[in-house]
Order: sequence, then C-alpha cells, then structure tokens
Amino acid sequence: MNTTQPDTQLSASRHAALDGVDGLEDLILVGGEWRQGGGELIESRDPATGGVVHAFHGASLEDVEDAVTAGLAASRAGVWADLLPHQRALVLHRIGDLIEERADLISHVQTADTGKCRSETRALAMSAAGTFRYMAAALETMEEAVTPQRAGSLTMTAHEPYGVVAAITPWNSPIASDAQKVAPALAAGNAVVLKPPVWAPLVSLLVGRICEEAGLPAGLLSVLPGSGSVIGNALVAHPSVGKVSFTGGTTTGRKIGRVAADKIMPVTLELGGKSPTIVFADADLEQALAGILFGIFSSSGQSCIAGSRLFIHESVYDDFVGRLVERTRQLRVGPGTDPGTDVAPLVHHSHRDQVAGMVDKAVAEGATVLAGGCIPEDPALAAGAYYLPTILAGVTNQDTICREEVFGPVAVVLPFRDESDLIAQANDNEFGLACGIWTSDYRRAWRVARAIDSGTVWINTYKQFSISTPFSGHKASGLGTEKGRDGIKSYMRQKSIYWDLTGTPLPWGQP
Ligand code: NAD
Repeated sequence: MNTTQPDTQLSASRHAALDGVDGLEDLILVGGEWRQGGGELIESRDPATGGVVHAFHGASLEDVEDAVTAGLAASRAGVWADLLPHQRALVLHRIGDLIEERADLISHVQTADTGKCRSETRALAMSAAGTFRYMAAALETMEEAVTPQRAGSLTMTAHEPYGVVAAITPWNSPIASDAQKVAPALAAGNAVVLKPPVWAPLVSLLVGRICEEAGLPAGLLSVLPGSGSVIGNALVAHPSVGKVSFTGGTTTGRKIGRVAADKIMPVTLELGGKSPTIVFADADLEQALAGILFGIFSSSGQSCIAGSRLFIHESVYDDFVGRLVERTRQLRVGPGTDPGTDVAPLVHHSHRDQVAGMVDKAVAEGATVLAGGCIPEDPALAAGAYYLPTILAGVTNQDTICREEVFGPVAVVLPFRDESDLIAQANDNEFGLACGIWTSDYRRAWRVARAIDSGTVWINTYKQFSISTPFSGHKASGLGTEKGRDGIKSYMRQKSIYWDLTGTPLPWGQP
C-alpha cells in the first residue's frame, strides 16, 4: 500500500459525471474530521467507460487508529449512547429524510461508481432512507424484559452498546449495505467505523456528510475507504473494536471470523450464495420466467441472493428452457444511465474478466452455452465491463460452475425428476443463502420451503426485501442476522441485573 503523503493535485481527476456533487472532495471522514486520507490512492472508475470517476487517497493505518480512538471517546463521553431513545431516533429520522431528499444525487453517484442501472441505484437510496426510519421506530419502541422472579430479587435484562462497531461492506449495493449496518449500530448507541470497498467508495462518503448534517455528534461515524487486507483487517483486529458486521465473500468472512475468534469478539457475517430456484411443472410458467430473469440478471447477477442454479422439472424443461433462452437473448445490455438498459456493466473490468474465466472453465469442463457466454460484440459497449447474460446447460450439480459463486450474470439449468431428489440436490451445496420456489401447489410450496436449508425462501416471487423481515445466511452463507426489529439488538450486548427488594441477608451474612 502506498502510504506516502497525499497528492493534492488529485481533484483534477474528478470525472465530469460528478460535477456539482457536493460532499465529494478528496477527503475522508476520520473521527469527526474531514481530512485527506494518508493511505493508498483509490481510483473509482465508471465501469461503462473505464474512465476515472473520482480519485482520492483512502485511509491509512493512522487514520484507522484515529477513527477508533475518536469513536471510543465519543461513546465513552455518552454524547450519543446516553441520549434517550427518542432523541437518537430523531437524528436517525433526519438521516433518512436527507437520504430521500438526495436520492437522485446518490443514485447518480452510485451509478457512476458501480455501473448499476439508475432505477436500481435510486431504489437502493430509497430503501436506505427506509432503513434509517425503520431503525428509528424500532429503537423508540424497543422494550427490555423484567424476567419472572424466582426469589426476592427483581430480575431484568438490559441491552447496551458495544462501544465501537466496525461495518465492512462490499461493492454490489453500497448505500443499502451501509444503511443496513450503520442505522441499527447507531440506533443501538454505538460509534461506527464504516469501511467501504475500494471499487465503490463514494456513496459511503456522502452518507458520512448526511449523518453529520443530520446532527450526529462528531466522532460517532468515520468513513474509511481502503483495502480490505490492510484497513479492513486493522479494524477487525483493533482491540477497541467491540463488534464487526461484515458483508462480503465467504473467503473473507472466514478470515474475519478467525481474527474475531482470537479476540472473542462477536461478528455478523453476511456472505456468498449459490441459490437454487425451482420450477415445478404446475407453476405459472410465464410468472416463473419473469421471476427467474429478474432473480439472476438484475444487478447484472452481482447479487448475493442471485438465483444462479435453476432446477426445472423434466416435464417442462425443454419448453421452459427454450423460452428462458429466447428471453435472455432479448435483454438489453447497456450503460446504467440508459433507462432502457436491463443488464448494466459489471463493477470492474477485472471482475468481468473473472466472470468470463469461470464461464470458459465451465465450458472446458463440458458445459454448453445456451445464451451469452461472451462479452458483447457491439462496438458501442467495447470500452465497458460488459458481459452478456448467460445460460449454461449440460452440467451436473457437482460441477464447479454449480458449486462456486460467479457473482455475475450467469445461470445454469438443471432438470429434476422428483421432489426428494430435487431437495437433496438443492441442499447439496456449501452455501445456504436463498431459494426460489415456483409452484401453484400450496402444500408443496410449504413442504419444500421448510426442507430447503437457506436463510430466505421466496415462493412465487424472488429478490423481494423488507427491512422489517430478518435476513441471514445458513451454512457458509453467514452467521448472525440483520434487519428486523431485533436488528438493533445484534449491535448490543445483554446485561442481566438482579436487584434485591427484600433486604434479606444472604446465608453467609448470618451471624
Ligand atoms: P470481499 O469479501 O472481497 O470484500 C468485502 C469487503 O471486505 C470489502 O470492503 C473488502 O475491502 C473487505 N475485506 C477484504 N478482505 C478483508 C480482510 N481480510 N479483513 C477485513 N476486511 C476485508 O467481497 P466483495 O467482492 O466486495 O463482494 C462480493 C461478495 O459479497 C460476494 O461473495 C457476495 O455474495 C457477498 N455479498 C453478500 C451479501 C449478503 O448479505 N449475504 C450481500 C452482498 C454481497
């Protein structure tokens, strides 16, 4: 990592796409202070063109130290944790309002930073606003328990913040991931150090500005863009960080889990997936088709819950796959700024190349390409990190392409004969994040939903989310739960209090 002094000329490399965007100077937020980061040069690139969107220096190890120290000081001073719940909730509501007010700006920046479709980045901003409001409401209505008395003491539980929480996020849905961690962690009374990914750091810096403007006391939120192996790792290992909430790949999650185990520190891990989507012969096939296309190709497949393993009943397999291939070929590939685009570029050229490499390997191992399987030939798209939406067949559930997460617009189709074989195959995977079931038989829907080992199941729908519904991964897809009313409690530790009400001396107190 380059830890030399920041180059003050860097603002010259700001892209025209960000003209007029307030709050995106070459600065990062460290313990209440906006300063030039002392770390490596981060170049956010527009994946539609490869051009630099914004270049600035990310955080250094010194910035990590300052951010954690400031967070700890702010949390010990009680300027936030000691506010009454409704007072903290007021600030969270203001953050939600400001995010909504700036949803267009956030969407614009996020599309430039990640390539995603504008419709999606706007929806992510609105969902982030909703997350702050929901957590404000959950905070104001959170109750503590007085537990049933077993002797003369009043017994109760209280929930208290950890102090400093590190929130480490991936690049695929930046503002939604930020909100999903920052809102409940702040609601719980913690200070938060947010580490966004180097491929998509800009929106998190806007969130930092918004939180400050909404009246969050200084030092409560730091935003430290930087590499995972240096800045992320330093945060996880820092003795004053009391909890880590991580969303990202399973390999990284395992590394973080090992460091956390040494510290005896709680972690929430939201990890990868290889989610099965199942089409029974009695399904509304047209609805299933639309749901499957959306489930795998929206966000260009860069979605942890992408429905990437499609199990189709053998009696409808040929017809359904034929229609799926035809519709896949009709999807419009283009820049996220074009309202007509269905499949935008992938986040980065190197990621696109990795996706292409996985498809090539699958083909070398015997897969047949039914649609896509290459970068588009359109010269207008030549500079971007595009990859055609891809359907592969002729593989088994044991093949590499069915076992490893691609994180791109690539689905495999697999026929199945009966329900028990289907369930065995669907569950025969390291991951357990999500599942889609398409059927008109309500008994079967229930049976299969309960038998599938995954954190979320969608029946006759896919990729629908609500902040009020908990989210978690089973098996290698994660540890712990986010969202829902109890989402706040995952950022708090429990304390039990016994309070004697009788004055009766304990046995050893007898003369
Ligand atoms: P990643 O694991 O490479 O990185 C995620 C974050 O962790 C980044 O900020 C990165 O800088 C940081 N990081 C990397 N190494 C680290 C280390 N040793 N210590 C601390 N931090 C470190 O993942 P990615 O490529 O950014 O994102 C794609 C992955 O995220 C996919 O596997 C996807 O399934 C997963 N994901 C999961 C969910 C979920 O909710 N389950 C949601 C979105 C994405």
